[in-house]
Amino acid sequence: MMSATESNPLDAVRADLACPACGYNLRGLIGAVVDCPECGQACDITQLLTRSWDKPWFHAPNFNRVCLPPAWAALSAVALLVLVGPMMARRATLAIAMIAAGTLAVWGLLWVYAWFVFQDLRGVWVTAVAHLVIAAVTLGLVGCFVGFITTGVSVLQAEWGMALVGLAILAGSVLSLWAGHRGERVIARQCIKRYLDRRPTS
Ligand SMILES: [Zn+2]
Repeated sequence: MMSATESNPLDAVRADLACPACGYNLRGLIGAVVDCPECGQACDITQLLTRSWDKPWFHAPNFNRVCLPPAWAALSAVALLVLVGPMMARRATLAIAMIAAGTLAVWGLLWVYAWFVFQDLRGVWVTAVAHLVIAAVTLGLVGCFVGFITTGVSVLQAEWGMALVGLAILAGSVLSLWAGHRGERVIARQCIKRYLDRRPTS
C-alpha cells in the first residue's frame, strides 16, 4: 500500500495545479473534485491531472497492480505452451489439469487483489481493460514486425498485392497500439481518481 509520505510523481503534478477559472493554486485541497477557495469554481482534479500528466501512464499510482492479472495470464500462456505440449505427448492429464487449475487460481486471486486496491467494482473493470491493453499492445508490436517484413519482402519481389496486405497489417497494428495507449489512459485516469479519493488529510 502507498504510504502518505512516499513520494509519488502524482503529488508533484498535483502541487502545481491551478484553478482553470482564476489561476488560484489548488495545492493541499483534498478530493477528486474540489471547489476553488478563491472563485468557487468546481475543479475536476482527476481531469486536470490527467491533462497535465507528462509521464508514461503506467507511472500512475497502482497502475502496475492492476496489470498483474493480465501479466500473469500472458506469462502463463507462454509457459503452458512450452510445458503442456510435451506433457500432452506423455498423456499426463492429471498434471496438466492441476497446473491449469493452479494457474487459474492465481489469476483469480490477482483479480481479487485488483478489486482490493480499488475497494469497489472499478478494480474489476479496470483490470478487464488492462487485459485488452496488453493484448492490443502485444498484437500491435507483433503486427508491426510482421507487416514491416511482409511489405519489405513483397516490394523487393515486386509483388504489389502482398505489399498492400503488408501495409494493411501495418496500419491495423498501429491502430492496435493506439487503442492500447488509449486504454492505458483509461486505466491511469481511474488510478489517479482512486488515489485522490483516498488522499490522506495532511
Ligand atoms: Zn478559482
